[in-house]
Amino acid sequence: MRQMMVAGNWKMHGSVAFTRDMIQTLTASVTVNEAVTLLVCPPMLYLTQAIQAASNTSLSVGAQNCAQIQTTGAYTGEVSATMLADVGCQYVIIGHSERRALYGETDAVVAEKTKVALAAGVKPIVCVGETLAEREAGQAETIIATQLDAVSKVIGAAGWANAIIAYEPVWAIGTGKTATPEQAQEIHAFIRHQLAKLDAHMAEAITILYGGSVKPDNAVTIFSQPDVDGGLIGGASLNSDDFAKIYAAAVAH
Ligand code: PEP
Repeated sequence: MRQMMVAGNWKMHGSVAFTRDMIQTLTASVTVNEAVTLLVCPPMLYLTQAIQAASNTSLSVGAQNCAQIQTTGAYTGEVSATMLADVGCQYVIIGHSERRALYGETDAVVAEKTKVALAAGVKPIVCVGETLAEREAGQAETIIATQLDAVSKVIGAAGWANAIIAYEPVWAIGTGKTATPEQAQEIHAFIRHQLAKLDAHMAEAITILYGGSVKPDNAVTIFSQPDVDGGLIGGASLNSDDFAKIYAAAVAH
């Protein structure tokens, strides 16, 4: 049985008050089932606050990014994976499509960040996914294979065994368009197939999340697909009711 997860990516949203209220509401209203990890990823500035508020609860806290360099150094504005581990951060999203598109993160950068997160003991959630143009050109699988291969070259099967993957079709993120459950399943199965070339056991065991306009009303059908192990949720994770309903859909699946 694979570990499932529902993860909230707050992106650049929130405040001290929002973080306090959201963590309080989630920890009070959601009964965490150990088969489904419940994770929130606030902006870096609110990480410590969130970690402290969530301590002694079943809510996990992750970051949305980390530096490519593992420890310390003259890298103004950066936060290393070692620092994330130091404050008790358990997970980090790596290679979100917004970071790839807006901040020029290449497959090689994503691979390096994944490596340093693993070395620091922070579990990477590695995002992959195709744009609409790539899907329409029939290139979705080629693009995803390339994104996976770049990371595989650097971390190998042993690294993937300690990582999570999020399949996020770029055309579905924040657009209200969701991949159909069949489209999600097809790509998730493809990802597992690609990883099985490295290690069949790892490929069967790795958690693969779907991300892209998951809402309470579509979560059940998406999560019911055999290779979908939960979701990476953007917009709907900013509403505690919606996020709790999506979590409940993963538990019920
Ligand atoms: C995301 O940002 O990872 C995401 C999936 O966003 P949304 O749920 O808003 O599409």
